[in-house]
Amino acid sequence: MNQKVCVQCGKSFIPRMWKQRFCSHDCYVESLRTPKRTVICVWCHTKFESNRPTAKFCSHECRQIYKVIRMRISKLNSIRDLSSELEEKGKDFRFPKPHEALNKFYGLGDSS
Ligand SMILES: [Zn+2]
Ligand SMILES: [Zn+2]
Repeated sequence: MNQKVCVQCGKSFIPRMWKQRFCSHDCYVESLRTPKRTVICVWCHTKFESNRPTAKFCSHECRQIYKVIRMRISKLNSIRDLSSELEEKGKDFRFPKPHEALNKFYGLGDSS
């Protein structure tokens, strides 16, 4: 039989019964004890139930899309920063080293 992932502890296990969702009786009991809470997906704003305290997304797709969009936005911002810097400094412009760019991004120490 195919491996499944326990909905409670996230470990993979070989189900003994069809539709088995937990790796053990303990996990089943634990899932009853842990109250589910309603979470609103950060990306699509769908309401969903989860008993994981860190749950933020209703689905794997939403998590992926959110990650990609966030990355694009931060890239866009850094390009914008660079081009305004280029205008200011003109031909003296020196491409920042990666760690300088990172420091700038996080608002840490500024060498100028
Ligand atoms: Zn389990
Ligand atoms: Zn979603």
